[in-house]
Amino acid sequence: MTTHDTTSSPANGKVYLVGAGPGDPGLITLRGKYLLERAEVVVYDYLANPKLLSYVPKDAQLIYAGKKGGGLHAYTQEGINQLLVEHAKRGKMVVRLKGGDPFIFGRGAEEIEELVGEGIDFEVVPGVTSATAAATYAGIPITHREYTASVAFVTGHEDPTKKFSNIAWDKLATGVGTIVIYMGIKTLPSITQKLINFGRSPDTPVAVVRWASTPQQHSVVGTLATICDVVQKADIKPPALVIVGEVVKLRSTIDWFEKRPLFGRRIVVTRTREQASDLVAKLEEYGAECLEYSTIHIEPVDDYQVLDQAIAEIGDYAWLLFTSINAVTYFFQRLFLLGRDSRHLAATKIAVVGKATADELRKYGVTADLIPEKFTGEGLAEALVRTEVKGNRILLPRALRASEILPEVLTDAGAVVTIAPAYRNVPPMGRREELRDQLESGTIDLITFTSSSTVSNFLTMLDAGSDEELHRLLDQTTIAAIGPITADTVREHGLRVDIQPERYTIGDMVQAIVAAYRDKAAQLAR
Ligand code: SAH
Repeated sequence: MTTHDTTSSPANGKVYLVGAGPGDPGLITLRGKYLLERAEVVVYDYLANPKLLSYVPKDAQLIYAGKKGGGLHAYTQEGINQLLVEHAKRGKMVVRLKGGDPFIFGRGAEEIEELVGEGIDFEVVPGVTSATAAATYAGIPITHREYTASVAFVTGHEDPTKKFSNIAWDKLATGVGTIVIYMGIKTLPSITQKLINFGRSPDTPVAVVRWASTPQQHSVVGTLATICDVVQKADIKPPALVIVGEVVKLRSTIDWFEKRPLFGRRIVVTRTREQASDLVAKLEEYGAECLEYSTIHIEPVDDYQVLDQAIAEIGDYAWLLFTSINAVTYFFQRLFLLGRDSRHLAATKIAVVGKATADELRKYGVTADLIPEKFTGEGLAEALVRTEVKGNRILLPRALRASEILPEVLTDAGAVVTIAPAYRNVPPMGRREELRDQLESGTIDLITFTSSSTVSNFLTMLDAGSDEELHRLLDQTTIAAIGPITADTVREHGLRVDIQPERYTIGDMVQAIVAAYRDKAAQLAR
């Protein structure tokens, strides 16, 4: 693989025209990602998914080049060309990130001509163009042995009614199987008319796909005769693609993307920044759009005296308990800092609250001796009490503030419990306004809570002035809670819990959410 320092003129940098793909950030090429990870300057378009910018190094310069179809242009094409030249001449590694493929209606060649003129080195990385993505994600095979053997990509930007067209609509109309039209929403009436006038059947199926491959994807179907009305009624605006041809018929069989059970659902995920990814990944797998609000920020405590002392005497403890992944992480951090390792725990039995915590523990080479059937503090307490804990010393490294149920039940059963603060939860306030705006506009379907502290921290972050305000913000939104304690906390704040899984795991919660929306869809269909 080449890197950016293989330039022909070493004083200059190099410009990489990179196809960002159609929208889904998973559809960029490995080469594109590799270059973004090394970029010093990134000039990106309206159609390139901003999520891709998360690959760019923190100190890189990001420049939005605009280009919204027919709307505001942040830069003219000339301005963009100048930008690329300027930064390359300063010796920078520049990525020009363009929607879809840079060479398909992307004016990539114009940018390169300018670079060539200035003697600047360049490379082009192709991308998944929106035409194939829109077709695929709308359930339409762009070619098919029985229906069509040819495809044409056409721009609709050029008004077909103008006298001298570069597009031979007369030949296209009957000479090509599938016709995909980019930038064709404004001119759709004259395009469909042309195709019909030049001999394509008015009954030819047509699909229009907006924001293909993203959670906002919206597609409609009609025929050459009806599609303009359909598009107008559905209020479809650019960016959208028009697909004309018999293959559109196959959509009814192949449509998969928009049929995923959580497609079109916007879900707030309230977890710690460190732990959100698992839940988000699972929900996205079912088609949901996740808005991540990290309501808990995990920090070390100021004083580790109790924990350090307990670690030194760990042999005197009958049980070591972990009630969260964070407790495991921070306990082992401390253990290692004190110059010890997992063998130091050999004489002590270890109990965990649930499967995720047990899995985390496994990473340190330790298998839990006890996992309760019910994954809660209470479940763990009951299971331990059954093992006869009278007179036993039990160590509980945990959050600075946490539920007292577990230590109380154990103490009542005659155990001697040491609570050792290992970390603390602090609510970050960063994106309050954005969250309130989203809730007020009624565009959020569901909020997920995975622990009591996510509930209280979420509400702290929301900062509703009164109960009425809280209800105004949240009453239209479905609430999912991972387990009974989290659900109780939600209800204590006067809110309703709509979804709660039987088993308290992330996987079960996602399944319960999917089931709830399947039921809803089934009811609507009735
Ligand atoms: N180089 C790009 C095309 C740029 S022209 C590519 O290869 O895809 C801009 C047009 O592309 C838009 O007007 C629209 O017709 C189409 N387009 C780009 N991304 C799209 C998307 N996610 N969904 C639907 N159409 C899209």
